[in-house]
Amino acid sequence: MSEIYSKEDELAILDMIGKWVDNEVAPIAKEYDQADKYPHDLVTQMKELGLFGATIGADYGGMGLPASIYAKIVIKVASAWMAPGGIFNSHLIQASAIERCGTEEQKQRILPRMATGELRGGIALTEPNAGSDLQAILTTAKRDGDDYILNGAKTWITNSMNGNSLAVLVKTDTEMQPRHKGTSLFFVETKDSEGNVLLGIEITKMKKMGYKAIDTCEVVFNNFRVSAENLIGGKEGSGFLQAIGGLELGRINVAARGAGIAQGALDLSVRYAQEREAFGKSISNHQAIQLKLGEMAAKVEASRLLIEQAAQKYDAEERCDMEAGMAKYFASETGVYCAQEGMRIFGGYSYSVEYDIERFYRDAMLMCIGEGTNEMQRIIIAKQLIERNKI
Ligand SMILES: Cc1cc2nc3c(=O)[nH]c(=O)nc-3n(C[C@H](O)[C@H](O)[C@H](O)COP(=O)(O)OP(=O)(O)OC[C@H]3O[C@@H](n4cnc5c(N)ncnc54)[C@H](O)[C@@H]3O)c2cc1C
Repeated sequence: MSEIYSKEDELAILDMIGKWVDNEVAPIAKEYDQADKYPHDLVTQMKELGLFGATIGADYGGMGLPASIYAKIVIKVASAWMAPGGIFNSHLIQASAIERCGTEEQKQRILPRMATGELRGGIALTEPNAGSDLQAILTTAKRDGDDYILNGAKTWITNSMNGNSLAVLVKTDTEMQPRHKGTSLFFVETKDSEGNVLLGIEITKMKKMGYKAIDTCEVVFNNFRVSAENLIGGKEGSGFLQAIGGLELGRINVAARGAGIAQGALDLSVRYAQEREAFGKSISNHQAIQLKLGEMAAKVEASRLLIEQAAQKYDAEERCDMEAGMAKYFASETGVYCAQEGMRIFGGYSYSVEYDIERFYRDAMLMCIGEGTNEMQRIIIAKQLIERNKI
């Protein structure tokens, strides 16, 4: 549940985040991305800024930011470097599942620790054989006394190596039809108090083309015991709906990351176009470049408006799967578009690792894939269109 924030509060928060991004995030992006090095100092700063509790309700120690302010924070971070946003985005999707679907005891026990960043993590839904079709997962949890025993493999799990908790989607009934009624979601602490991975869990970092520096891993559960107290909501059978219920906010987040990438690529391009000369004038005076900049700028603004529309509906607790889907689809494609156009504007230098534009290009495509691919988004939009306009 979000708190009420005045316009002055919003401006103060965005000013604080803006200074942090300009002074701390932007200057290290290139080095950490290229070395694929985890930005531990940024995590410490994120804790101080309250980012790990950004959308967690004040009752549970968070800031309770509305999605509309939160999205602007995400855009600002991604306009400098998309990857660190994943450290608190995926974490907050996990927190949102617990806040929306957990029992009161679970919320009191888990959320304050997540809000401070003592517990940090993400969501473990995807498996080697199941991404878009999440109901096809094979990981199981079998009841054994007061515990459940988890077996199975998750893949592409962000924050799993440097974090210490996950919301894990499993099958508690492999025969159940419809399939989603056989799923459950568990809150799992993956490490002991000294930071060692618990027995029964194996975490292996994956190599990626972009979204570097942030850990995305395979997570294997081998007879891992989790207390039945950590079955989110306390009842089996709702895991799939609990997981996808948080995706509206997740999609607004990804849209914001796409818009941030687009904004960052545009900013770099506007600058470079004025610095670079060809045929006796700066390339910004060539109409072919102006057409690119004009198109990029219009798409960035359209992305912001779609995000704002989805976020406002989300904050008003109205159904917004269509709006969040449109924002996610359009803003992430705009991220790819602007990064590609930026590459063209930078010409051969776009291929040099000395310039930041190549990072935006490598990072952009992920936004079209995560939180439901853009193919799935258009299907969701179309289904909603038909449902809302039945003849
Ligand atoms: C860097 C990175 C980080 C990630 N982080 C996480 C994470 O933290 N947690 C997590 O759980 N997952 C994570 N993921 C996984 C991500 O959510 C999935 O990759 C995504 O949902 C797509 O699933 P898939 O890769 O299995 O593709 P598939 O589902 O196999 O899809 C392949 C293609 O088929 C299309 N397709 C599939 N079904 C349909 C359909 N019904 N109609 C039309 N087209 C269809 C898709 O759109 C896509 O084009 C991450 C992925 C990456 C790359």
